[in-house]
Amino acid sequence: MEISFLQDSSLQTITNKKVKVAVAKGDGIGPEIMDATLRILEAAGANIEPEFIEIGEQVYLSGNTSGIKAEAWEIIDRNKVILKAPITTPQGKGYKSLNVTLRKSLGMYANVRPVNALHPYVQTNFPNMDVVVVRENEEDLYAGIEHQQTQDVIQCLKLITRPGCERIIRYAFEYAKAYGRKKVTCMVKDNIMKLTDGLFHKIFVEIAAEYPEIVNNTQIIDIGAARLSANPIDYDVIVTSNLYGDIISDIVAEIAGSVGMAGSANIGANVSMFEAIHGSAPDIAGQKIANPSGLINAAISMLAHIGQTDTADKIKNAWLRAIEDGYHTADIYKEGVSVKKTSTSEFADAVIDRLGLSPETLKSSNLSKGGGQIRIPEYIRRDEHKELVGVDVFIDWKGSSPEEIGNALNRVNAFNLKLKMITNRGVKVFPNGLKETYCTDHWRCRFVSIDAEIEIGKPVYKVIEYEQVVELLSKLYHSGFDVIKTENLYEFNGKRAFSLGQGE
Ligand code: NAD
Repeated sequence: MEISFLQDSSLQTITNKKVKVAVAKGDGIGPEIMDATLRILEAAGANIEPEFIEIGEQVYLSGNTSGIKAEAWEIIDRNKVILKAPITTPQGKGYKSLNVTLRKSLGMYANVRPVNALHPYVQTNFPNMDVVVVRENEEDLYAGIEHQQTQDVIQCLKLITRPGCERIIRYAFEYAKAYGRKKVTCMVKDNIMKLTDGLFHKIFVEIAAEYPEIVNNTQIIDIGAARLSANPIDYDVIVTSNLYGDIISDIVAEIAGSVGMAGSANIGANVSMFEAIHGSAPDIAGQKIANPSGLINAAISMLAHIGQTDTADKIKNAWLRAIEDGYHTADIYKEGVSVKKTSTSEFADAVIDRLGLSPETLKSSNLSKGGGQIRIPEYIRRDEHKELVGVDVFIDWKGSSPEEIGNALNRVNAFNLKLKMITNRGVKVFPNGLKETYCTDHWRCRFVSIDAEIEIGKPVYKVIEYEQVVELLSKLYHSGFDVIKTENLYEFNGKRAFSLGQGE
């Protein structure tokens, strides 16, 4: 059966017509490994037609801070599939990460990185590991929303969305189904980030229930990462948010002994991009010794994506056989294991010579036996009832006594609002804070309705009007407070939708 990840019927589909692919040769070792990869694709009879695009260092240096020209956007928009070699981001301020720009502008929400050991041909302590990391690609701390709010405090917003979680988690389960994987592990830190990571975990549990045939479990990211590096064999598919996924996927590639050999896919509903996980390796550029395997594996994922699974298997099996036969580039060459230290193009020749052969000891590739298409349904928004029950007012104040600011705020006649508490870096410092708590110039002051029952153990909030907030801000301003920002406190369907202060 053929697998296609194509989700939009307007995309180029599986026909005899050549599939046009936007190809970026990249910088540093990029052109060398891309030439090797394209030669293999051609020799294997891949039904594709490359259309070259210009991105990267030269485009940056020509004054284009995004590193990509308008013509390249047009070609990507036409073709929807990108095969990309690594690029060099010039040092210095003002250059935006092209990878982040491409992923986010084109809605490539899933980063999929399969990594398996090639023991004994590539050195690893984990000969049987075979892990796929499915990383959310657009949200989380990578939203890039940062502000300096006071002299001493800078904030980065962590944005986790329900549609984002639903899409990536469903993708992970559908991937597991398509590739006959048995288990999906979710990694979060919801013991601390109860709302953001809590949402990811909650949605994981909801969606996992729809796939009873696939084992699921959840781990806290710190212990999860530790166990993964000690016992990768216990893991199959891992799904996680952007930052954790970034870290986890590098750990997985490193312990497999093959950072230079793994490819990754960035999957979107309309556009998808395939690349090696390593960078442009300027230290060895031009020496013709780079290992093209990362990009070859990316190209194999690309062929599976566009439905050319037979060709994908043919290349993967020839590549495995070349590794088995001891044809190794310098980065993986090992006396006694390797037979020949190859240049980049000699390695490509070794793969081409083995097209049609299968590995003898390593597990053969069988993408053609995959199980169907990955289609992620449109997100359906369920309306919830939202009520405003308070406001957190953040104040820049360089004093150090919580009592002083607390008492001053208590004296502000705040239009039927009362001060519930003050925190500093999330820890409650007023009323009844501890004198040991270090306080910065960044004070979060929580106001709720004067009728809220906050004195009892489980507070009962009362609905307020936004006009009260506006009035409060005006009063604070006229009393000389430097308000940095506010965060409204809401209940959704009657449930508190904001975190408590630590120690509250
Ligand atoms: P790198 O991955 O380019 O290199 C790290 C080390 O690994 C180097 O010693 C290099 O020689 C070696 N190496 C990497 N790929 C190899 C290969 N295929 N064969 C043999 N050896 C290989 O990381 P870096 O040095 O931190 O970054 C260099 C440049 O690459 C930077 O400008 C960075 O921004 C860029 N980069 C681009 C991408 C991308 O385009 N996707 C990703 C990471 C880094």
